Amino acid sequence: MIVVMEPGATDEMIEQVIKRLRDFGFDVHLSKGVERTVIGAIGEKTAEKIQQIEATPGVQRIIPILQPYKLASKEFRQERTQVNVAGVVFGGAHVPVIAGPCAVESREQLLETARLVKAAGAHLLRGGAYKPRTSPYSFQGLAEEGLKLLAEAREETGLGIVTEVVNPRDVETVAEYADMFQIGARNMQNFTLLTEVGRTKKPVLLKRGLSATINEWLMAAEYIISAGNPHVVLCERGIRTFETETRNTLDLSAVVAVHELSHLPVIVDPSHGTGKWKYVTGMAKAGVAAGADGLIVEVHPRPEEALSDGPQSLRPEVFEQMMKAVDQVARAVGRYVLEQPCAANLA
Ligand code: PEP
Ligand code: MN
Repeated sequence: MIVVMEPGATDEMIEQVIKRLRDFGFDVHLSKGVERTVIGAIGEKTAEKIQQIEATPGVQRIIPILQPYKLASKEFRQERTQVNVAGVVFGGAHVPVIAGPCAVESREQLLETARLVKAAGAHLLRGGAYKPRTSPYSFQGLAEEGLKLLAEAREETGLGIVTEVVNPRDVETVAEYADMFQIGARNMQNFTLLTEVGRTKKPVLLKRGLSATINEWLMAAEYIISAGNPHVVLCERGIRTFETETRNTLDLSAVVAVHELSHLPVIVDPSHGTGKWKYVTGMAKAGVAAGADGLIVEVHPRPEEALSDGPQSLRPEVFEQMMKAVDQVARAVGRYVLEQPCAANLA
């Protein structure tokens, strides 16, 4: 349920309500918005408990949350949540772009890519150090060595780091280097992993599972938030359908649906969503037009040499064109990607 406080409720009143809820055995989550303060209370409720909370000074009303996800729901929080990743904000007018290689392959490859994506206007650097590959014989990533290279790339370019954590045991190590955890599609329902990143305060990029419904995806976000970490950004990366021309089917209706159902920001991954570099710019533009709060795109200086996901990786010059094109679409819908608008025509 949600305890809505009176607009003029004092901090003492809020504290008192929180204390009473905790005494009643509720798990408490405070949300201080510009308009109103609400307290999410998760736990066993009785008519008696509700009456007593309702009668506590400063309480305006109590509303039950009907959606199965509570803290991730729009019922809990009407205002859009903003998630700050190393100074880059998701969920506002700005549409940040996370770019970089699928996997960190070498120092040269990573630093070269980082410099190029930075020059084209990217806001954060991606790169997998732990790669969850379909085949156990494929390149599995450089592990901690890869994380160190990412930290070096951040040092040089100033770009914050987004990288995947695959194993709950590695959460602490990845947290030392990354600015944002990525939870991969294959791990969307790895509840131990979700709880583990939920115990930190570091932002989490939660990718949608290959065959997950929007409801299941939001329930996965609920795991992270209920463990204590509200800094969740969702990522639509395509789902399994009968179509084989594209690697996955990028479900852009999920962007619109998530904004209807949840207060969390949602970004789009047109690289895994299509599997082909030629389709990436078109779907990136479509994602921004649908209201995506950001993009994550794979870029490689020489895709033909990539150890993973080469066919869907953009060459730097194509990425630069994509950035200009998505900026123009963003501006048409009242947002922006690049700080400085450019005069280039739509790609
Ligand atoms: C990736 O971002 O490289 C990746 C493995 O993505 P996904 O989990 O969406 O397949
Ligand atoms: Mn990839």
